[in-house]
Amino acid sequence: MSEILKDNGVVLKKRNYRETSNLVSIFSETHGKINLIAKGVRTPRSKLSAVLQPINFIEFVYYKKITRDLQFLSSADFVNDFSRIKSDFKKIQTAFALLELTNIFVHEDESNPSLFRKLIESLISINDFSTQPQIFLVFYIIHLMESSGYPIVHKICPSCNKNILLHEIQKYFSKHFGVICNECGKSINESNKLNVHQMELISKCNMGEISELEKINIDDLFLKETLGILEVYISQHVNEFRGFKSLIV
Ligand SMILES: [Zn+2]
Repeated sequence: MSEILKDNGVVLKKRNYRETSNLVSIFSETHGKINLIAKGVRTPRSKLSAVLQPINFIEFVYYKKITRDLQFLSSADFVNDFSRIKSDFKKIQTAFALLELTNIFVHEDESNPSLFRKLIESLISINDFSTQPQIFLVFYIIHLMESSGYPIVHKICPSCNKNILLHEIQKYFSKHFGVICNECGKSINESNKLNVHQMELISKCNMGEISELEKINIDDLFLKETLGILEVYISQHVNEFRGFKSLIV
């Protein structure tokens, strides 16, 4: 017997399956990652093909049978097609980097409602604001790493256990520990010095509301460097991640 289930989700990946079908991976709100077969969607009459494009936020109905690895999609419709993302190359690249990361970190039958909310918030912000889109990727990475048990920003230096004052002295980043205190930064060889703008970006992404990020204006080079060190940090902790394929940082 199969159950009929309804959920919301973001389309992470879509690929061809057999003659006329697609295999679609979705990060769903209540069931984690779901891999679905969408039968017959590559025929010219199918309207579902446009709905099932990566980045789209959709609502969908599917048949679930626990004895099967792949489930069958019944119907799907747009919640948000993020049309402004799709008309801007930098926004597309950034949104795909978010999907790439999400695909590595989320698993089948493991719901993660708070990460789901962060993903939706980040995509809405990339779509709606004229702010540099990669700022919202920094925001998403910081929350993703925290929810995976590898927080980047701590109140206490993870290397020496002393309190650290985010806005004052410490401006160092280690690929093992994330943000560390000034003293540890000077003594740990592989640490990167963060300038005041990079530190402000990291602490606002960590503590602030996503709407406040709209006002951040950071030099493109500093933003690129920040993403570069975060990329190294992620690959240091998560084997499956070998750098962004959709983004050259
Ligand atoms: Zn320290």
